[in-house]
Amino acid sequence: MTGRAKKMSQPNSGIKCVVNTCHYYGSGDHCHADKIEVQSPNAKSTEMTDCATFLPE
Ligand code: SF4
Repeated sequence: MTGRAKKMSQPNSGIKCVVNTCHYYGSGDHCHADKIEVQSPNAKSTEMTDCATFLPE
């Protein structure tokens, strides 16, 4: 992904996220990043994927 995601004032309506320790997290399980990247290739289960855009608060 090119560059860090921007934190928007409005939530990204297509994303539900419960990672409340993320810089982009908003109450109500919203993500305020303008874009996210999900990893990783060749995942075989839900547990093998996660958000690479995550940034600690
Ligand atoms: S950037 Fe990823 S981890 Fe952070 S709130 Fe958005 S979806 Fe969740």
